[in-house]
Amino acid sequence: MGQITLQKVSKKFGNAEVIPPLDLTIEDGEFTVFVGPSGCGKSTLLRLIAGLEDITSGSILIDGTDATDQPPAKRGLAMVFQSYALYPHMTVRKNIAFPMRMAGIDQAEQDRRIEQAAAALNLTDYLDRRPGQLSGGQRQRVAIGRAIVREPSAFLFDEPLSNLDAALRVGMRLEIGELHKRLRTTMIYVTHDQVEAMTMADKIVVLRAGVIEQVGTPLELYRTPRNTFVAGFIGSPK
Ligand code: ADP
Ligand code: MG
Repeated sequence: MGQITLQKVSKKFGNAEVIPPLDLTIEDGEFTVFVGPSGCGKSTLLRLIAGLEDITSGSILIDGTDATDQPPAKRGLAMVFQSYALYPHMTVRKNIAFPMRMAGIDQAEQDRRIEQAAAALNLTDYLDRRPGQLSGGQRQRVAIGRAIVREPSAFLFDEPLSNLDAALRVGMRLEIGELHKRLRTTMIYVTHDQVEAMTMADKIVVLRAGVIEQVGTPLELYRTPRNTFVAGFIGSPK
């Protein structure tokens, strides 16, 4: 389960309407990428879905249930932050366990989920290390592990690879893609990087100034961009 529907969702900060009312449905299991230039509202939209910001108007449905007034912890979604959001004084095991401890999950179940996530992310040998003793890619995997153990109905990624170097970024893209194939859980991935969008997405949502310019598969956007903004952004001629 992991269908997310936005109905006439808008967001104002003071008098500035950064997201005019928009409609969007993300299907269960889909890998959706929000792409657009810096400041176009990608993070805001993700934070509205996560419940980290209140929407100004409209409603958000998760698997058909109105989640508009639900706090983040009730929505069953997991936000993956950049790796520097790890707790430096805690081991990898404790970092991954943290959200489960907060949720009051018993120790045996915590251990089971940690082993499973560590195996899926190649972290089994690193569980007793601290973040400072890991490479950038390993730290990013721990951040993902911390989301996986919550068994969310969707993962929300906000430019998770932006502080990694180019080579590592390519590797992590592939790993996240493989994780999606294995879990088949809904993923929403925010980036300003066209290549990331084109290579990772089942469906791309192109944003400009809080407005959805086009939604489609990478191939649809490439072949039939709706306007010159989309064409320019995706890098195909029109
Ligand atoms: P993106 O992630 O696409 O770079 P953001 O969602 O961070 O864009 O920001 C969209 C717009 O909303 C920007 O103009 C930004 O300055 C504004 N904004 C974001 N968060 C806040 C906030 N908490 N208060 C006021 N303005 C904000
Ligand atoms: Mg952002």
